[in-house]
Amino acid sequence: MKRIKEKGKYNTFQNFMWMVKRSKISRVPYLLWISILSGILACIINVVGMLTTPMILDLLESGKSIAIFMQTISLVIGLLIVLTGVKTYLHFYMSIPKISCRTGIIESIAEKFSITSFPNVEDEKFLKLQEKASSASNNNSKATEDIWNKIEDLVRYSFSLLIYFVILTKLKWWILLLIIGTSVLEHTINRQIVQWQYNHRDEEATLFKRVMYFWRQSKDVGLGKDIRIFGMKSWLMDMFDDAIRTYEAFISKRERKYIWMNVLDLILSFLRNGVAYIYVAKLVVEGNLPASLFVLYIATIGNLTEQMLGIMDTCNTMNRYSMEINVVREYFDYKEQFRFEGGIKLPNAVDGKYEIELKNVSFRYPNNDTDTLHNINLRIAPGEKVAVVGLNGAGKTTLIRLISGFYDPTEGEVLLNGINIKEFNRREYYRLFSAVFQEFSILDATINDNITLEDDATNPERVWEVISKAGLEVKVKNLPDGLNTIIGKKIYENGVLLSGGEEQRLILARALYKDAPILLLDEPTAALDPIAENDIYHKYNSMTNGKTSVFISHRLASTRFCDRILLLDKGRIIEEGTHDSLILSDGEYAKLFYVQKKYYQKEAIHG
Ligand code: ADP
Repeated sequence: MKRIKEKGKYNTFQNFMWMVKRSKISRVPYLLWISILSGILACIINVVGMLTTPMILDLLESGKSIAIFMQTISLVIGLLIVLTGVKTYLHFYMSIPKISCRTGIIESIAEKFSITSFPNVEDEKFLKLQEKASSASNNNSKATEDIWNKIEDLVRYSFSLLIYFVILTKLKWWILLLIIGTSVLEHTINRQIVQWQYNHRDEEATLFKRVMYFWRQSKDVGLGKDIRIFGMKSWLMDMFDDAIRTYEAFISKRERKYIWMNVLDLILSFLRNGVAYIYVAKLVVEGNLPASLFVLYIATIGNLTEQMLGIMDTCNTMNRYSMEINVVREYFDYKEQFRFEGGIKLPNAVDGKYEIELKNVSFRYPNNDTDTLHNINLRIAPGEKVAVVGLNGAGKTTLIRLISGFYDPTEGEVLLNGINIKEFNRREYYRLFSAVFQEFSILDATINDNITLEDDATNPERVWEVISKAGLEVKVKNLPDGLNTIIGKKIYENGVLLSGGEEQRLILARALYKDAPILLLDEPTAALDPIAENDIYHKYNSMTNGKTSVFISHRLASTRFCDRILLLDKGRIIEEGTHDSLILSDGEYAKLFYVQKKYYQKEAIHG
């Protein structure tokens, strides 16, 4: 095996301290202290239990009265019952705080993902890290929950070990050395396995991701239609099967390593116990050791080995947990490209309207070979309604992404009222925008909540107003629970499924509800039929009244309602003007317009 020395960014102690900090954030700061207390109790229970038999033998050997004998036994048993009771109680009492601490981390992981700089959510490295961080905190891994049990174990093993060393100091030094030596050897083997697993974690994550992808696809309702129509089942199942086989091959490779480790473990433990037991037995045979001490030494040797291995196993596990916690922390530390703290205050809008300017802006997506936008110079006056048109792939959506601050330009700058948007806190900057993007973000919740984006917002008049503007009034009125109707069936069985067009109208209603000074509409009618589309265009002026707006549309006719039209081609603005001026100049826009007009007329005749 090629040994790759890979270390996490933080060491085990730093990660442990981080967990202590997390327990405070989750409002369960006592986790550490109760874990230590449980460890001490476990140690006492262990040592008292081990001393009981030698003590009984000693009482018998020294001919103590039956009363003293009974008293001592009752005391020991009583003590064991009380201690075990307290320990069991602590164990149950602690289970919920441990879960709270872990779920707190899961929440923070989700939170980071939802507010991180947008380029991160398309960054493969970040996505992988997010997946690994999540699996380090999920139900199977439990690194972030079980670590408290390991603290308890560490305390128990350390204290017990100390006591056993004291008991065994009367024996020969080489016995102790043998026990320590073989235990350390076992520990070293264990570490190799942990290291192997850590070094292969990327491979495992990729293989697992593939399995999960096909699993999700096989259940995807949208894909379900294509599976039936195109007979995609066997193709999909073959790929799913292949993904499972590859993942299984990886797991069995890992399991083979575990088996070898177990065999070595067995050999070492035979060597250690065999030699030590023979030595103590020899002392008894030679008459140099009373029976009670013989029992004590045998029990201590067995226990010492257990504690030694226990402590080293716990260190191994802590080490593994630490590596998993490292991943979580690396994810939290992942570089943010945008400013999310401080920054200069947003400028005041002129009459509630903002001016946006793109100065010599070029943009290239990470890992792409060419620029998607080339040297764009564009000034959108306060309150201006700009339309962006162009063929697929021209860069229209990318332009909106730069304006809305989802990406920063590779060259040039985006200015808001003359100030580079990098100077603002990006989250505050986002507040200036309302948007309809091409991907719909509708959650399985009520219509009201999906529009207001709050779960206790009560302003039905305004909600109805935007629903009506977005042309969804009749539909919502006919739903059984009106505004309180639940959308989607992923959580609630009685949820309602909306058509693509209705979802788009819902998103439009949400954008209007936010009532932000800048409105961005990226193909807001792509999922609507021509009549519904026309209806939205006619409402466009009232929707954008008093706002600066940018509107992307594939329907050139729809852009007549805008003050200015930009024609984008291969990442460049090649024409701009009003609809009439562009038609008059008889350039590319006019060509596209007539082609489209003919097409739509044909559709109207044949449709
Ligand atoms: P339009 O909206 O005009 O159809 P886009 O702005 O969506 O065009 O895309 C312009 C170009 O940028 C396309 O060639 C597309 O492949 C590329 N592109 C879009 N999004 C990404 C992305 N996230 N990563 C890499 N390339 C992208």
